[in-house]
Amino acid sequence: MYYAVAISNYSENKLFVYASSEDIALGERVVVPFRNKKNLAYVVQKFEGIEEITESNLEELIDLERTHVVPSKIPKITERCDYISFIDNQRTATFVNCALGLGYPIGRLFDLSFPPSFDKYFSLFVESNSPLINIPKMRYDDFKKMSKAKEYIESGLVRIYRDFESKKPRPRSKEEYVRIIIPPDELPRLRLTSKQSIVVNYLLLKGTAKVDELLNDLEDENVERSVLVQLKNKGIVKINDEPIADEESGQLVRKLTEEQSKIVKSILEEIDGITMRSESLKHMVFGPTGSGKTEVYLDVIKHALNFGSVIYLVPEISLTEQTIARLRKHFPDVPIGVYHSYQTDAKRVEIWAKAVKGELGILVGPRSAFFVPMRNLKLVIVDEEHDEGYYNNSEPFYDVRKLLQYFPIPVIFGSATPHLETYKLAKDGIYQFHVLTKRFNVELPEVEIIDMRKEKKSTPSISKTLREEIESVLNDGMSALIFTRRKGFSRVQCAVCGYIAKCDNCDVSMTYHSDAGKLKCHICGSEKPVPSVCPVCGSQVFTDKGTGTEKVERELRELFPGKNIGRIDAEIIDTPEKLKKVLEDLREGKLEIVTGTKMITKGLDIYRIGLVGIIDVDALIFYPDINAPLRTFQLLVQVIGRAGRKQKGKAVIQTYDPSNPVIIYASAQDVTGYYERELALRKELSYPPFADVVHVMYSNQSEEIARETIDAVYKDISNAEGLYIEILGPSEHPIFKVANKYRYQFFVKTVHSSRIVRLLNEIKTKYPGDWIVRLNPPEI
Ligand code: ADP
Ligand code: ZN
Ligand code: ZN
Repeated sequence: MYYAVAISNYSENKLFVYASSEDIALGERVVVPFRNKKNLAYVVQKFEGIEEITESNLEELIDLERTHVVPSKIPKITERCDYISFIDNQRTATFVNCALGLGYPIGRLFDLSFPPSFDKYFSLFVESNSPLINIPKMRYDDFKKMSKAKEYIESGLVRIYRDFESKKPRPRSKEEYVRIIIPPDELPRLRLTSKQSIVVNYLLLKGTAKVDELLNDLEDENVERSVLVQLKNKGIVKINDEPIADEESGQLVRKLTEEQSKIVKSILEEIDGITMRSESLKHMVFGPTGSGKTEVYLDVIKHALNFGSVIYLVPEISLTEQTIARLRKHFPDVPIGVYHSYQTDAKRVEIWAKAVKGELGILVGPRSAFFVPMRNLKLVIVDEEHDEGYYNNSEPFYDVRKLLQYFPIPVIFGSATPHLETYKLAKDGIYQFHVLTKRFNVELPEVEIIDMRKEKKSTPSISKTLREEIESVLNDGMSALIFTRRKGFSRVQCAVCGYIAKCDNCDVSMTYHSDAGKLKCHICGSEKPVPSVCPVCGSQVFTDKGTGTEKVERELRELFPGKNIGRIDAEIIDTPEKLKKVLEDLREGKLEIVTGTKMITKGLDIYRIGLVGIIDVDALIFYPDINAPLRTFQLLVQVIGRAGRKQKGKAVIQTYDPSNPVIIYASAQDVTGYYERELALRKELSYPPFADVVHVMYSNQSEEIARETIDAVYKDISNAEGLYIEILGPSEHPIFKVANKYRYQFFVKTVHSSRIVRLLNEIKTKYPGDWIVRLNPPEI
């Protein structure tokens, strides 16, 4: 029999044909000889009932553009790895389509579907395949040693397959229940260790819990029985052998608003229909922060669970916890799993095995969780779907949202500031568009724009108005969140009118190079002299000052001595635990002012925040990247949305460019207005989502080699006329030298991205070194 396989860890978008006498399932892992080595591969296609592949039947059998085969020399599959497929036919077929549509290396999609150290935890087992022989399920290694082993296997009396070697189950103690016995308003006063407070928070959500279940759910946090005993000794919880119901637990009473239930209804009809429909619809739920999108997902999930399982994606690991808490509260009886890279390999394999065997109702995790081959998957939720976290911005590059387009499964994408492509698909009717028009019970915050060209400053980065607003919110007993950008390139900005030099070809701001004393465009490579007078207002004063979180923190301490001030940025918050701690302090009012980067926008749902201050956002808008203005707009809307979750809040934006559309639309929180404008602009320039942009970058320690290589590949691609709209570059990357390597890049605007990506993957093998080829990267 002949098989087409995808080679593991291989960068070309190609299949290869092998032969085997065995009947191998689609999706099975096999070992094949490949370029003089043994290589892992995945079976993706069977050529059934074909005696022989010859020159004459070759073309009718095989898609030769995509598949490599030499009929006279078809090698044999060396060995089967699992004797069972963990990736079902539908998923296998989808991966193939997906790779075809995106020019993506097929094997990589399969590679991503297995947890690390998979083989260490999954072993081969043997079990009887016939009523005639009576052997128990046993490890293949042990079975092999038996005298008749070979005979049994060959005659098909036993079946070999790979399976998860589960740990010994926790010894079943007697059924015990635990619940909190002190009034909730006393809880904030308690001095608890972090593990104790994890348990308390868990119980607050769940009401009464089974002890076994609690220990299982909180295993990741290393919560053991001793923590419960400590809490019991403090008189905080009670442990019983009966599930005494407490009044506060029990089904939560909530009624969807009319808008919400309309959306749920229209999504559910589609899910019901899935058994009959061959393709299935994707949905976009668009509504401001706090408009009740999550409540909509919950109702749809409830329904989907009747039919199968659900994957719930969040943009990053730090958000899994609050999502799980909400899901557990809603679905106390549904087994929920988490899957992410901070877990131990053992834990990941265990969750993976449960998901594959159909023992989980809901799997929560960041982008990698999407690849878990969840049994009987019926629904995928992509929460905060605009987030860059859905783009895997390192090898192997991929965008989960893009991959999901190929999956014949209902998907709900939700956001207050959608990914532009999702928004367009929804608007064009390719996805179903559902809109929530307002926040559930609080109005959106009032936003004030501060014109920094005219405004008095209290410190270099904080205006008088912002300072007064902070004072006033602190007097009300609420907290303030001060957003600062971290990243930024030196750019030349007029201190009087806010003018920033832009490239005439690309509509991105130009970067100042002090060595050459010139402005350069990092998209197309063009250069301009630095203006000596502002072309707009004639001023001769230019600034290029940046503002960092640290500096802002210092200034805040100066202005508000004695206040509790904290900071959130990647430098000091490098684990989800640390972020959790700061957020807890903020929630409990231990921190009065927090300054931070983009991190503070993530799922922060804290009632105490009355004011959001945004300082120095201009540089983000003018970052030399076509996505910069949109990204900044989304960020602003999200940050503003953190204010006033309980009562109407306020936001203050400081800017030197108050007429910038990003600032204007964001302050009006007019997402649709801004998106329409951005779409019109992008249509004009053939930028995504109207065409694809493929970013190609090469780096080398020798500047000369780097430049020559990019030039050569650029030439090769230029020759592929008809496959692209325009090639921009080559140019230096805005961060030209990284780790002693020089980086050059070019961009291909195209509507044939799969062919361009495939071509690049082939061409680049001719030029060894560090390549990056990315389709529509969120950021350059
Ligand atoms: P989003 O996901 O759009 O940010 P959420 O679903 O988190 O919004 O809703 C915001 C707040 O409003 C939450 O506290 C949620 O529990 C509450 N809420 C939303 N819809 C309802 C409803 N129909 N009944 C009761 N509370 C609701
Ligand atoms: Zn000016
Ligand atoms: Zn340019």
